[in-house]
Amino acid sequence: MTPRVEILDLHYQGHPGLIASFLISGPHGHVLVESGPGSTLASLVAALDSHGLEPHDIHTLFLTHIHFDHAGSAGWWAQQGVRVCVHRVGAPHLIDPSKLIKSASRIYGDQMETLWGDIVPAPAASVRAVEDGDVIEAAGLEFRAIYTPGHAGHHHAWRVGDVAFVGDSMGIRGGVIPWLDLPAPPPEFQRELWKESLDKLRAERLETIYRTHFGPRADVAEEIDRIEKLIDESTEKVKSMLDEGLERDEMIARYGEWMNGRARDEGFDPGKAEGEDKLNPRDMSVDGITRYWKKKAEAGG
Ligand SMILES: [Zn+2]
Repeated sequence: MTPRVEILDLHYQGHPGLIASFLISGPHGHVLVESGPGSTLASLVAALDSHGLEPHDIHTLFLTHIHFDHAGSAGWWAQQGVRVCVHRVGAPHLIDPSKLIKSASRIYGDQMETLWGDIVPAPAASVRAVEDGDVIEAAGLEFRAIYTPGHAGHHHAWRVGDVAFVGDSMGIRGGVIPWLDLPAPPPEFQRELWKESLDKLRAERLETIYRTHFGPRADVAEEIDRIEKLIDESTEKVKSMLDEGLERDEMIARYGEWMNGRARDEGFDPGKAEGEDKLNPRDMSVDGITRYWKKKAEAGG
């Protein structure tokens, strides 16, 4: 069974095609997958309004993980009485977001408010902590959590019928970024775990996947192969630059050129992806992959 899915473009930082939220309608109501950040809450509410819905019409909000671009406004939804389903490791950070805000402020500085907007605490009673394989009934549909770490240690894909909302677990492609790109932020990018997650997604034999960045794809098996290859090649690319002893700035520049080259090889113009740097800056992936190699070295290879 394939549910009815509406893609709600949140126009992150004024750009279409960067962050999506998904409205799924079942026999007994409506749910959302991903809330997006606080800075796009007004866009999300307006998008629901265009479907004749108000926030209180939403029964449940499913989150793939708690990074702000996926879940920054989840606390607000919980405050409206919407049930929020999230990995058990993410749940305490929705209830008390102060640690998240503190660590993100170190990265984003005075850009915090502009990029992410308000981040408010979720009432504990509205937060449902979820584990791999849990099946949640909502709106007359069944959603199953598929634990898919690698991008983040607490990442779930959500399966309903023959489709799945895969968050960041199949990388970025669609909207303004038509080539395949890798979001590998610190501190939790982990190549081996990510590849195991892809094996799990392969075994699901999905008809369609929906990426938060951005939209649906029906060539699921091929896309899984492609993202696996990109994970390997990006990780090795950074390794070779570390082995060369390059400075961070030089690594970021070369990694960017390399990724742009890949985009051009796929037939796309990377210069046209407006807003991409606000969603998945290349320095973030270089830092994430560098950290992965350092942890591996500390653990004795
Ligand atoms: Zn993320």
